[in-house]
Amino acid sequence: MVETKKTFGRGANECKRCGRKQGLVRKYGIYLCRHCFRDIAHEMGFEKYS
Ligand SMILES: [Zn+2]
Repeated sequence: MVETKKTFGRGANECKRCGRKQGLVRKYGIYLCRHCFRDIAHEMGFEKYS
């Protein structure tokens, strides 16, 4: 499902999903761009992100 810990040690400044560095979201210990975060948040059941 969601790989939240796999690439944790390196490049913590880019989206782990697509590598994008813009709009990085680092909430909840995840490192994803806003686009991927929205996708994953939806998958994870987060619906409050706005
Ligand atoms: Zn991304």
